[in-house]
Amino acid sequence: MQIHVLASGSTGNAIFVDMDDTKILIDAGISARRIKQSLDAIGAKIEDIDGVLVTHEHRDHVNGLPTLLKKYRLPAYACPDTWQAMYCRAELPDDCCLSLADSLDIGKIKVEPFSISHDAADPVGFRLYAGGNKVSIATDLGFVTPTVKGALALSDVLVLESNHDIDMLKNGKYPWPLKKRIMSNRGHLANTDAGWTLARLARKAHTHVFLAHLSRENNRPELAETTVADILTNQGCKLGQDITLHLTYPEQISGLSRNTK
Ligand SMILES: [Zn+2]
Ligand SMILES: [Zn+2]
Repeated sequence: MQIHVLASGSTGNAIFVDMDDTKILIDAGISARRIKQSLDAIGAKIEDIDGVLVTHEHRDHVNGLPTLLKKYRLPAYACPDTWQAMYCRAELPDDCCLSLADSLDIGKIKVEPFSISHDAADPVGFRLYAGGNKVSIATDLGFVTPTVKGALALSDVLVLESNHDIDMLKNGKYPWPLKKRIMSNRGHLANTDAGWTLARLARKAHTHVFLAHLSRENNRPELAETTVADILTNQGCKLGQDITLHLTYPEQISGLSRNTK
């Protein structure tokens, strides 16, 4: 099993997952050229991608889709309302734009989307199952609903939003309406939200967590990591054993390879 967060944050998101030899891309918010270069760098081929899953229509998640789908004819899956709300939908080849079902199989990966609370048409996170492993992805969400908590439980690998430090956001230079939007129930998760979500989650013995979608303006990678780590340690979690934290970056690949059980 391999997970590589190719890019993360408001300038573009893309995650590559390889489970049981099935290869999936989650979101294509960076250019197709950069996706190809990133995959080359980790020894994967863009032509081998079995499907693209789209979480929601915001540009930082779909900007690379037109070229990616036109050039490589990859099947892409999104909720019908997401397709409808997508600014670049008219540019996409119709036969590549497929509807996301409650559950679907792409190769050997079973994909189960779940609803998240965010200011988009029908935003989702994903659970991916293959070879006895579970990978869950939840970025761009204002708060963690019971549905999300249930969906993330007992994952082997989690990609979870840790968008901002609440004080940096409050004291920062963003205009108040934007601060309010980010802090709202349909905005983005704070570092403390990520920490408490992980602390309260039903977990497997060893969980790997990628802290994702960090704000450049209102967060720092080290701050996200220490905030989450402090909450987990205070709650009796052994870091590096119970949970291993990984950071993600806007312009740097962050990955993990694990032998499948
Ligand atoms: Zn986003
Ligand atoms: Zn978004």
